[in-house]
Amino acid sequence: MTDKPAKSHGRLAVSTNRKPRALMTDTPDIEGAWKVKVITLFPELFPGVLGGSLTGKALKKGLWNLETIELRGYGIGKHKDVDSPPAGGGAGMVLKADVVGAALEDARRGTPIDPNTWPVVYLSPRGKPMTQAMVRKFSQAKGMTLLCGRFEGVDERVLEEYNVQEVSLGDFVLTGGEIAAQALIDATVRLLPNVLGNEESAVDESFSNGLLEHPQYTKPAEWHGRKIPDVLLSGHHGNVDKWRQEQSEELTQERRPDLWDDYVKSKCKG
Ligand code: SAH
Repeated sequence: MTDKPAKSHGRLAVSTNRKPRALMTDTPDIEGAWKVKVITLFPELFPGVLGGSLTGKALKKGLWNLETIELRGYGIGKHKDVDSPPAGGGAGMVLKADVVGAALEDARRGTPIDPNTWPVVYLSPRGKPMTQAMVRKFSQAKGMTLLCGRFEGVDERVLEEYNVQEVSLGDFVLTGGEIAAQALIDATVRLLPNVLGNEESAVDESFSNGLLEHPQYTKPAEWHGRKIPDVLLSGHHGNVDKWRQEQSEELTQERRPDLWDDYVKSKCKG
């Protein structure tokens, strides 16, 4: 059903769902809108921060859809076990392949298999660090499935079996994948059409051109003896653009030599 070309918003998709609760929320599931399926032990943590501000408004309007898939529902036995101790010994518990696999199998229903059209991502400190280029690609997909780990993580075999990409929020360890999933969804959703009030703001911002953003100011013109740079009040757009570009370059060089190197290389290539 989701394999059809994107339609204009407005048609409600009726799909079978293991969780009828999803049909009772006040957020419409609109066919053709970008959709994220989140596999988590803690569905109550969603939409979390995504329910506020612009992402929350967009969710209510149906500009994107959220479905949580509760991992516990796939637990095994009387106690609905989802984890067991690591093979080979060591601390903590590992999410079981048979449990996570069943959830991924369900998430796969009705979604394209092609990883560019529908990426399947495990949030993990071992993953590729999240970048603007990466989330831009995600925003161009029809939707995606996110797997949030807990404890020591998930059985490696399930990642291989379902061709799961690993994505990291940064070089630190969180207790679970939910915060990273919400960061990824936020960064992706704000790039979808009509989510930001001003479409320009996603063009002219940090990383969009390989540089960090220039400093920003607003009224009052003087605060605690600090003035807004004259050029920004001059009304001369050419000079403003030039100043901003210079500031962006200086800041990037100083704070992110890694980004600066890439920027210089890309300029040389033309
Ligand atoms: N033992 C693992 C860490 C497990 S932390 C290791 O050393 O690599 C528990 C869960 O939190 C992970 O399964 C993952 O889903 C999530 N997580 C932790 N740090 C993360 C990060 N930097 N980015 C994305 N997800 C992270």
